[in-house]
Parts: sequence; C-alpha cells; structure tokens
Amino acid sequence: ETLDKGLEKSKTTFFTKLNKAVAGKSKVDDDVLDNLEEILVASDVGVNTTLKIIDRIEERVARDKYLGTAELNQILREEIAGLLSEVDSGNATEFTVPKDKKPYVVMVVGVNGVGKTTTIGKLASQFKKQGLSVVLGAADTFRAAAIDQLQIWADRVDVPMVRQEFGSDPASVAFDTLKSGVNQNADVIIIDTAGRLHNKVNLMNELTKIKRVMQKVVHDAPHDVLLVLDGSTGQNAFEQAKQFTNATEVTSLAVTKLDGTAKGGVVIGISDQFKIPVKYIGVGEGIDDLQVFNKFEFVDSFFK
Ligand code: GDP
Repeated sequence: ETLDKGLEKSKTTFFTKLNKAVAGKSKVDDDVLDNLEEILVASDVGVNTTLKIIDRIEERVARDKYLGTAELNQILREEIAGLLSEVDSGNATEFTVPKDKKPYVVMVVGVNGVGKTTTIGKLASQFKKQGLSVVLGAADTFRAAAIDQLQIWADRVDVPMVRQEFGSDPASVAFDTLKSGVNQNADVIIIDTAGRLHNKVNLMNELTKIKRVMQKVVHDAPHDVLLVLDGSTGQNAFEQAKQFTNATEVTSLAVTKLDGTAKGGVVIGISDQFKIPVKYIGVGEGIDDLQVFNKFEFVDSFFK
C-alpha cells in the first residue's frame, strides 16, 4: 500500500504513457516499439537498458510473428523483472541479518544530499524493531553537520553512536565504532562515510583505508557496502553508481526519494547496468519510509 503511494508518480507517468502508446492498436508494430522506447528513456531507465528491453520484445515479435498489445504489459513486466536484481531477503518486508555475522557491519557510501543519513536512521530503526542491538559510527567527519545530523537520528531511534570531532580520521572513527560494537556485543554496526567525489583515487583510498582498519577488529567487515542513490536525480544517480563501483566493491543499493519523482525507472537501469542488487527503496522522509526492495512488487506498481 505504501509502495503504491510512494511510487504513484512513476507509475502514473509510465502506465498512462504506455496506454496511450497502444491506444487503438491491436498489435505491437514499429510505431508501438518506437513509442515504448521513448517512454522508457523518459522514465530514466537509461538508453542501454531500454535498448535491451526493446530488442527482447522485437525478438518475441519476430519469433511469434504476432504480438497483441494486450499481451505487451505482461511481457514488459517479465522482461523488466528479469533485469532487476534484488537481495534475497527470504521475506518480502524485512531484511534478515545473517546469523553467522555478529556484529553485522554495514558501510554506507554515497554523495551528500542523497539521503544517506536518513537511510541510516531508518535502517537503525528497522533493525531495532527486529530486536537487534545497533551501533552507529559517524565516519563522515568532513562536515560537522553530518555528525550532528546522524546524532539526531541516533537519539531519535535511541541507539548509541560513536563519534570524534569534526575533521578527524574517518578510519579511526570506524575502528572505534567496531571496537565499541564488539565490546557491547552489538548485532549490527552501521558506518556512515563521507561522500566526497573529489577525485576517484582519493575516494578509493579513503574507502579502502576504512575497510582495512575495520578488518583489524572484524576480519570480514564490512559485510555490506550499501550505496545510497537519490532516485529523483536520474542520470546523476547512474554517474554516482559508476564512480562508487569504480572506487570500491558495492554490494547493495538503497534508492531514495522514489516518492517524489517520476523517475522510478532509474532503479531498473542501475540494477541492470551495474549488476548490484537493490536492497532498499526510500519512499518518504519518515522513519518507516524505507522498504525492502521486492522486484515483482516494484514492477507491478508500474503497471497497476
Ligand atoms: P545526506 O546528506 O545524504 O545524509 O542526506 P539526508 O539524509 O540529510 O537527506 C537529505 C534530504 O532528503 C532530507 O531532507 C531528507 O528528509 C530527504 N530524504 C531522504 N530520503 C528520502 C526519501 O526516501 N523520500 C523523500 N521524499 N525525502 C527523503
């Protein structure tokens, strides 16, 4: 229900346009395919992924000789779902932390403004609701505001946060946080990192150092490198995904702000192009507005 509400804008745009494109037509022809291509690109699916989808539909038309527009919805659904990868949560509504990872360490990356702090707060709240103990680490030390902002969330969710002063070494904060988490027997540790895309080498060095230092405390940390992307920024989100995947091994994605945008299609393109599973989607500013990504639900919301 919340998902439907959250993705309303994407859904209306995509579905309405699609209906218009096939109005008065009984079969899928070049015209319909041209329109479909335009709609997918306008929905920020990305050119490569759009062409892939169009190719597959063309193949089906060629193979079956005839494709009715009535069937187009279903086929599009299948093709889009096939391109999306999700984290297998085993449960549609919440992510289950692996039992053999304690503490389970999540390193959160992403540029400023994408909703990184908010996502960390929402995550802490979700884990806490599952009965897990959570420790946050404020390793985005380049902005004083980032530390204070995260503190507000830590207080709100009522979880401890490890911090040092503004300007201190992010790797040192990460180290302290893991130490503290291990001492407290914490279940989950979430580390915020700075999202400065100053240059590729620096970003890579910074993230590599944080990881290396964390591994002195928890040898296989981080268990998840979660990249937060703002779904409303379309092609910028693509560009950021490119930069972060070049700098470090990103293991999952959180795509935020899908409530206020007609660009939900960006999830399809990014998931396809970078082969990183989407783990969460943000659908609002509230503490409960973070959902575990479910690809069938997501695709369905486009076509309802
Ligand atoms: P950060 O700089 O990446 O840490 O970004 P913040 O977490 O401070 O978020 C920036 C703004 O985006 C804030 O006003 C948040 O309330 C808002 N925000 C974050 N996630 C979402 C979301 O899923 N939907 C909406 N509508 N706003 C969001």
